[in-house]
Amino acid sequence: MDNCIFCKIVAKQIPSTIVYEDESLLAFKDIHPAAPVHLLIIPKKHIDTLSSAQSEHTELLGKMLALVPKLATEHGCAPTVMADGSLSGGYKTLINTGPDGGQEVYHLHTHLIGGPQPWRGQR
Ligand code: IMP
Repeated sequence: MDNCIFCKIVAKQIPSTIVYEDESLLAFKDIHPAAPVHLLIIPKKHIDTLSSAQSEHTELLGKMLALVPKLATEHGCAPTVMADGSLSGGYKTLINTGPDGGQEVYHLHTHLIGGPQPWRGQR
């Protein structure tokens, strides 16, 4: 898509801090982070919104979601069981969809938002 900023990031026409890339997905740091860890995971193929996805995209959607815990672990925000048995860490996974869903960029993306509190509620 000619005017899609995320397609331009995929094509490396504009700079981004890429943290993961494979044949079908790209992940990079959000330019306006809402938390210590704020990554965006996108399909390289342009899909406007989650609601535009078709059954042919099921595998791609699964891969996008499966990448979340891997990146959360690599970026130090996966939930961890502490010595006393309590749980610490964790993150939010968010797909804003359409105007009422708060979507600003119309290239499907999953937000991975986490890191030490306080930041909760900013999204
Ligand atoms: P949305 O509201 O779910 O569409 O979120 C779009 C996100 O893209 C926002 O969190 C923006 O900060 C982020 N964003 C917009 N342009 C860029 C960019 O060029 N690089 C990285 N993140 C961007």
